[in-house]
Amino acid sequence: MGFFDNLKKGISELWDKAKEDAADRAKEAAEEKVQELAEDAADRVKEAAEERKKKKEEAQAAEQKAKEAEQKAKEEARVCSKCGRKAEPNVKFCPECGGKIVEKYRVCSKCGRRAEGDEKFCTECGGEIAEKVQE
Ligand SMILES: [Zn+2]
Ligand SMILES: [Zn+2]
Repeated sequence: MGFFDNLKKGISELWDKAKEDAADRAKEAAEEKVQELAEDAADRVKEAAEERKKKKEEAQAAEQKAKEAEQKAKEEARVCSKCGRKAEPNVKFCPECGGKIVEKYRVCSKCGRRAEGDEKFCTECGGEIAEKVQE
């Protein structure tokens, strides 16, 4: 073989090697990218699940708080029907005068919403607040 043949062969080999290297690198890069995307997607799924869990816990806490507030409002509404004294929880008759303990609360005469403070008119619909007694 002559000098040029050897040169040609050498160049051809180098070229093939370069092509193989480039193909390998492209494959590696593609594999890395796929791995990265898969990890990203997994992270997002995990985050969404955590977010849902958090929302659920928040909703449960809010529900619990609302229940407690309702219970408290109910207890605070219990007064003696005779002397108007505020009753202790679970007491059925007034320890002062023997009067029956009733639930007395103020509600909107229009929409039925329970008044939270001493407002005279409903903050929701403007209806007049009326006192309601429940035995
Ligand atoms: Zn009483
Ligand atoms: Zn109202």
